[in-house]
Order: sequence, then C-alpha cells, then structure tokens
Amino acid sequence: MRTVPGAQATKDYRCPGCDHEIRPGTPHLVAWPADGTGGVADRRHWHKACWGARSRRRPGRW
Ligand SMILES: [Zn+2]
Repeated sequence: MRTVPGAQATKDYRCPGCDHEIRPGTPHLVAWPADGTGGVADRRHWHKACWGARSRRRPGRW
C-alpha cells in the first residue's frame, strides 16, 4: 500500500477504518495497492488515527 496526505480533499470520503465520513478539508491519508492496477477507484481514504490503529488490529478482533 502507498499513502499520501489528502489534506486537499474537496469531497466526502468513507473511512474504512471507522466507517465514518471524512469531511472536506479534514487531513487524512489516501492508500492504494502498491502495484496500482486498481486505478483511482481502488483508492481508500483513511483518517490518520484510523490508519495508525489499522496496523495494531489483529484479524478477527474488533
Ligand atoms: Zn476513520
């Protein structure tokens, strides 16, 4: 996965980490598969805190 700052967002996105909206102008991260085969449609927008928590989450444990 690659990540870039998404501070210049101009529309709402859905954060897959917490399933809440990311409002325009909210600093967040944009992540997508490193191979890039999915294109723009495969990008995911995360809150920074949710992205950090993602790495600590164990499969099957919420
Ligand atoms: Zn979130």
